[in-house]
Amino acid sequence: MRRRAILVAALLLAAKARAEPAGPAPLVASFSILADMLECIGGPAVSVAAIVGPDRDAHGFAPRASDQRALLASRAAFANGLGFDPWIDRMVGAAGFQGPFIRAAEGISGPAGDPHAWQNLGNASAYAGALVAGLSQAIPAEEEGFRTRARQFIGAAAALDAWVRAEIAKVPRARRKVVTSHDAFGHFAAAYGVTFLAPLGISTESEPSAAAVARLIRQIREEGIRAVFVESMASPRLVEQLAREAGVQVRGRLYADALSGPDGPAPTWFAMFRHNVPLLVQAMLA
Ligand code: ZN
Repeated sequence: MRRRAILVAALLLAAKARAEPAGPAPLVASFSILADMLECIGGPAVSVAAIVGPDRDAHGFAPRASDQRALLASRAAFANGLGFDPWIDRMVGAAGFQGPFIRAAEGISGPAGDPHAWQNLGNASAYAGALVAGLSQAIPAEEEGFRTRARQFIGAAAALDAWVRAEIAKVPRARRKVVTSHDAFGHFAAAYGVTFLAPLGISTESEPSAAAVARLIRQIREEGIRAVFVESMASPRLVEQLAREAGVQVRGRLYADALSGPDGPAPTWFAMFRHNVPLLVQAMLA
C-alpha cells in the first residue's frame, strides 16, 4: 500500500514536471542585441541564446544544424524583422517550429529600407512591447514580471536617449558627418541629427563599385570629414583603404549590428551607446 502511494506521488510529480518545466524557459533570438533586450525584460524567467553571437555579422547568415536544434528546444523565437534576419523566418518554417515567433521591429517605421531600428533608443518601447507580447504568450504566468521589467527598460532607455542627445549637441551641426563600413546608422541619423556615409549599403553582403568608393574618398577630402570608423562585426579592410586614400585616420571601432563579448566594451544594448557615442563625438570634433 505504502509502495503504491509512493508510486502515485512519483507519477504525479512527473506529470507536473512535464506541464511546468522547472527553471528558466529557453528562448532563441536571431542576434546578440535582441538577446540582450530579451534578457532585460525576461529576467530570471528566461534563458536566451543568440543564434548570431557577439562580434558576428547577422547579414546573410547561414544557420547550422545546431541552430535548428536550439530553435526546436526553445519556447519562443525572436527576430528583428524588417529584412534584417530573413534566414530565421526560413528556419522557423523548415523546422515546423510551433511556439510564438516574434519579429520585434516589424511595427517600427524609419528610414526606408533600414532594418537597424535598435540604433535609435527611442524605439525601446516598440521593441519592449513586441517582446512582452511574445514572452507573455510563451510564459503566461510571468506576464506581470515582464511588464514591470519592460517599464524599467523603457525608463533606462529614455534616460540614455537624453544623454545621447546632450553629447551630440556638443558638435556643431556642420561637423556631424561620419563614415562607417555599411549603412547601419539610418535610425541613429534620423533620431540624433548626424549624417552617416558608407561604402557598403544597408547589408554587408553588397560590394561597392570603384566609382562609389572614389566618390566617397572625394567627399571625405572636400568636406574635411575626420570621423571615419570600422565596425566590430564587418571586415575593416575597405574602410582602412578608404581612409588611407583620403589621408585620414581610422578613429576606432563602432558596434553596429552586434554586441561585444561580456569582457568587451559593448556587452549590452545600452553599453553599445555608451561606447559608440563618445567615440563619434570626439572624432567629429577632432
Ligand atoms: Zn547591418
